[in-house]
Amino acid sequence: MTDHQHPQGFETIAIHAGQEADPVTGAVVPPIYQVSTYKQDGVGGLRGGYEYSRSANPTRTALEECLAALEGGQRGLAFASGLAAEDTLLRTILKPGDHIVIPNDAYGGTFRLFNKVLTRWGISFDVADTQHPEQVRAAIKPNTKAVWVETPSNPLLGITDIAAVAQVAHAAGALLVVDNTFASPYLQQPLALGADVVVHSTTKYMGGHSDVVGGALVAADAGLGEELAYHQNAMGAVAGPFDSWLVLRGIKTLGVRMDRHSANAEQIVALLRRHPKVTKIYYPGLVEHANHEVAAKQMKAFGGMVSFCVEGGEQAAVEVCNRAKLFTLGESLGGVESLIEHPGRMTHASVAGSLLEVPADLVRVSVGIESADDLVADLAQALD
Ligand SMILES: *Cc1c(COP(=O)(O)O)cnc(C)c1O
Repeated sequence: MTDHQHPQGFETIAIHAGQEADPVTGAVVPPIYQVSTYKQDGVGGLRGGYEYSRSANPTRTALEECLAALEGGQRGLAFASGLAAEDTLLRTILKPGDHIVIPNDAYGGTFRLFNKVLTRWGISFDVADTQHPEQVRAAIKPNTKAVWVETPSNPLLGITDIAAVAQVAHAAGALLVVDNTFASPYLQQPLALGADVVVHSTTKYMGGHSDVVGGALVAADAGLGEELAYHQNAMGAVAGPFDSWLVLRGIKTLGVRMDRHSANAEQIVALLRRHPKVTKIYYPGLVEHANHEVAAKQMKAFGGMVSFCVEGGEQAAVEVCNRAKLFTLGESLGGVESLIEHPGRMTHASVAGSLLEVPADLVRVSVGIESADDLVADLAQALD
């Protein structure tokens, strides 16, 4: 590309980083290298370092370079799912006997990975309300090797002060991991605030079109990035070429999509505020939100996720979900289409009865980028 006098803007990086025109054909989009192995020019004579697609694949490399550039890290790595990325990260930075502090409203699958899988391998955890950095400090033990933060959190949209928790973690010699799935690097840059590793479910906003399952890690430090890359290859949960291509395509429009997701969410929140059946709203853009100031400081806008409680308990919440028409009843989030769900019975069923249990009268919406008036009208009829 051209030489630059000033740092590139986010959208420029999203469209160009890792994506030089193809050297052979000039194709402006990285091709899908649907291939497992590569011809060597004599034994060990690799072309561009490629020998086998678990170790590296050019389509995945394009995505990985773009991810690193977007998060401002030294190394990006793409995985078969968000949970595959998490598992690889955790088994790289922790070993039996180690301890990790996790948030009290983590994504259900993340909690299950800690609670049901990693505990069997000798890793212990404590749950803290990471919205209060002093509670993180209180949960740290001599063998704590990492602190895990999800902000905004799922499904209660809790906000954690990344810079403050980075200080707490680093003072104890622990790494800070931030799950940046809900914000995306367009709205929030955890590494710049002191985090050591960013985790993504690229299934969500990064892919953005509900057509791919994927995950990512971005490390601030090249040494840790190298260790993660070693484990990515050794454990093997890599993103395939077509999936990498889909995520890379989604990323090109991440900025414009996040602007519209955030603007549409504001309209939905305005409806919820004036609706008599809504008893509580979880949205970091509200001044009443306990950590609104922190969100305003560390996020560019407040994103497209909104949760709320309705009068009438669990049954009423389930009925709102069932009555919605334009909001599709379904799990997941972050796609162009709006989704609605009942976390207690759907995405967060796996945390029922645990410290992470969510309110029974809670409804979560992933506000898409359809015409805002249509979304407001649909949710209004579902609530009435
Ligand atoms: C979906 C999600 C994950 C897990 O990602 P998968 O791609 O489903 O494996 C992790 N964290 C958050 C915040 C999520 O929303």
